[in-house]
Amino acid sequence: MNIAPDHGRTYAQLRHFLEVPRRVAIVTHYNPDGDAIGSSLGLMHLLRGMGHDVQVVLPNSAPSFLNWLPGLSDAVPFDKRPEHAKELLGRAELLCCLDFNRMDRVGQLQEALSNLNVQRVLIDHHQDPDPAFTLAISDTGSCATCQLVADMVGPMGWGAALDKQVATCLYTGLVTDSGSFRFRSTSPHTMRVAAALMDQGVEIERVHQAISDDNSVERLRLLGLLLAERMTVLQEEGVVMLMLSKEDLERHGHRPGDTEGFVNYGLSIRGIRLSAFFVERHDHVKLSLRSKGTFAVDRFLRDHFDGGGHANAAGGQFKGGLDAAVARFKELLPELLAQRPV
Ligand code: 5GP
Ligand code: MN
Repeated sequence: MNIAPDHGRTYAQLRHFLEVPRRVAIVTHYNPDGDAIGSSLGLMHLLRGMGHDVQVVLPNSAPSFLNWLPGLSDAVPFDKRPEHAKELLGRAELLCCLDFNRMDRVGQLQEALSNLNVQRVLIDHHQDPDPAFTLAISDTGSCATCQLVADMVGPMGWGAALDKQVATCLYTGLVTDSGSFRFRSTSPHTMRVAAALMDQGVEIERVHQAISDDNSVERLRLLGLLLAERMTVLQEEGVVMLMLSKEDLERHGHRPGDTEGFVNYGLSIRGIRLSAFFVERHDHVKLSLRSKGTFAVDRFLRDHFDGGGHANAAGGQFKGGLDAAVARFKELLPELLAQRPV
């Protein structure tokens, strides 16, 4: 059984701080995903419902498949409206940092946040949280930050504010970060949380459709190119490498978020236990790794590609072009495979 850590003291400190109406800012990581956006908006609605003045500031905009989430239009993307975002951050009394473990995960927002002299709380499920957070609800055993926010509702006394829109936001992050309840991180508790959210009226068919059936024609064609011409399968090693160049992206009218989830196609091949996806950006290559079972990949990315994440799903980057990134990865692959359990 998965026994959640006791966050009792942190809850008590937060409860005390939130006894009077506060100005709260919520921030999350760069290129926010379903869990980042879902947990930020879910917490925003909860705290607003409890009488606080709450603003969500994003490093950059949410991907289009999340556009329908209640409250997203209230969130301020720092890359589009930096002055407004700074003003909101500057007046906050409490800064909630959701779904990331270190301050360098917030992109350009990092500098604006470093100047703030406010109480900070971390709510997150990644490995090795920054020890600078004095107030932290950090639990790597939780499949999603949304699950941690849902777990706060009872002990924090926010039950009166839990409604359909809160539940819809939190359920969305549960679904996206658990791979629709199929990754190892999905626990019986996850299912109980999902059930409690459904009790609030979440329209699960609508949520799953909005998440899964949001392909543009260009994205599907890009996926077609990736699988047909940009995939290397090392069957004996159980490894798949997928790569897209800047030109590939440009040719298919690439939009932010379009390559989200592509890495999982590698893992869907019979006998494959490691999928590596390389996507070329203007001055670096983004690398995503996914693995199966007890084969952990996060440390490898932390050691060699300035990255991190979770045991079975992690990311990193390489300064340079696509070919050099792939060559470096191949060079290091024996080291990574040596860590693979037999
Ligand atoms: P993805 O491969 O989908 O970008 O990310 C998978 C997981 O790894 C996510 O939980 C994400 O937060 C984490 N991650 C992705 N890129 C980085 C990175 O550069 N640094 C760290 N520390 N974590 C990352
Ligand atoms: Mn997450």
